Amino acid sequence: MKTLIGPFAQILPMTGLSLKGALHDEQLTVIEKGGVVVENGEIIAIAGYKSLLQKYPDCEIAFQDTPLVLLPGFIDCHTHICYDGTRNRDYAMRIAGKSYLEIARAGGGIWDSVTKTRIADLVTLTENTVARANRHLKEGVTTIEVKSGYGLNLESELKMLRAIQQAGMHTPATLISTCLAAHMKPRDYTGSEEAYLQWILTELLPVIQQEQLSNRVDIFIEETAFSAKAAADFLQQAMQQGFVATVHADQFSAGGAEVAVNARALSADHLEASTEKEIALLANSDTVAVVLPGASLGLGMLYAPARRLLNAGACVAIASDWNPGSAPMGDLLVQAAVMSAAEKLSTAEVLAALTVRAAPALQLKDAGQLLAGYTADMQAYPTADYRDILYYQGKMKPALVWKKGVLV
Ligand SMILES: [Zn+2]
Repeated sequence: MKTLIGPFAQILPMTGLSLKGALHDEQLTVIEKGGVVVENGEIIAIAGYKSLLQKYPDCEIAFQDTPLVLLPGFIDCHTHICYDGTRNRDYAMRIAGKSYLEIARAGGGIWDSVTKTRIADLVTLTENTVARANRHLKEGVTTIEVKSGYGLNLESELKMLRAIQQAGMHTPATLISTCLAAHMKPRDYTGSEEAYLQWILTELLPVIQQEQLSNRVDIFIEETAFSAKAAADFLQQAMQQGFVATVHADQFSAGGAEVAVNARALSADHLEASTEKEIALLANSDTVAVVLPGASLGLGMLYAPARRLLNAGACVAIASDWNPGSAPMGDLLVQAAVMSAAEKLSTAEVLAALTVRAAPALQLKDAGQLLAGYTADMQAYPTADYRDILYYQGKMKPALVWKKGVLV
C-alpha cells in the first residue's frame, strides 16, 4: 500500500549536489509544499503535494497539519557507542587542565574503557548500544556506524562486534560495524606493534569474516597508537582479505591522512592536525574527509579545517565520534551547528555533510538523499524554514522521524 506523506512546508531532498567541494545554499533544491509517496519502506515519488495527490489518488494519506521541513535521515559515519562505564573522571581532569597523555598515565584514556568494556557481558553491551542508537534515531540519525576497539583481545573484540550485531536487531536504526582492534596496542600485549597488527590480521579478522560480524577495519594512526608505516602494511593486508578501510587520521599529528589516501580508504577521520599537504591529498582522492567536531569540543581543541578542505575540493562529512572519552555528548546536530559558525560552513555544506556526503564513507547506495528508489529514512523539523535547523544550533530536534517509511 502506497502512503502519501505531506504536505511539508519545505522538502530538502539533498539531490543534485556535487559530492566534493564548496556548496552554496542557492544550490539546494527546496520543494515548497511538497509530499513524498512511500511503499514498503522505499520512496516511490517526491514532488509537489498536490501533483502527487492527483497522480496517486488511491494512496493512503498521512496528512501533516503543522509546518514541517523534511530532510533525509542523518548518517553518523563514525561512532564508538558500544562501550560500558563512564569516563567522567577523565573529563574532569581534562577540563581542569590535564593533558591527554597525563590522563592516560593516571589510568584514564582508552585503556580505562577497555577495562570496563572487557568486564561487561554481551547483554549489557547490547543494551547500552541499543539505548544510544535509539537516542540518536530520535534525533534524526537513521544510520549509525559503530566501532569495536574497547576489547583489544579475541574474546572482547568479538563480544563487542556481536553486541553491535545484536543491537542492530533491536533498534530500527541501521547499524554498520567496524573492527577497530587497532585502536591502540593493548597494555597487556607484550609483543611489538607489528606483531599485534599481525595478530589482528591472522587471528581476529578471519573469525569476524566467518561470523559476518563486519567487513570494515579501522586503525588509529598516531604517536600514541600506530605508526604510519605499520598502518599502511596493515590496511593493505586487511583489504587483500576483503575488508574495506577507514582511518583515525591526523588527530594530534599529521601523517594518517596520507596513509588513508594511499590505501584508498573510504574515509580519513579527525584531521584536526592536517596541513595543506594532507588537505590537497584528500581533495584529489575519493577518500571522504570526516570531521568530528564533538572530539574538538570535548578536548577543547581546534576544529578540523573543514572550510579549507571544502575549498580545496574534498568530500567533507561530519560525524559525532560519540565515545565515552573525548566526545561524550553524542549530539550530532549540535556539534555540526556549532562547528559551522567557527569554520564558516554554509547550511548546504553542513546538511550535505550529514547526509549525501556521509553516505560514501559507509558505501551506502540508497541513503542520504530523498530520491525515488531510496530507503524512506526521513526526518521532519517543526519549522517552515530550513535555515532554522542550524539557527537554533541543534536545539531544534526533529518532530517526526521515519525509518524505512515507518514512523519511529
Ligand atoms: Zn573515533
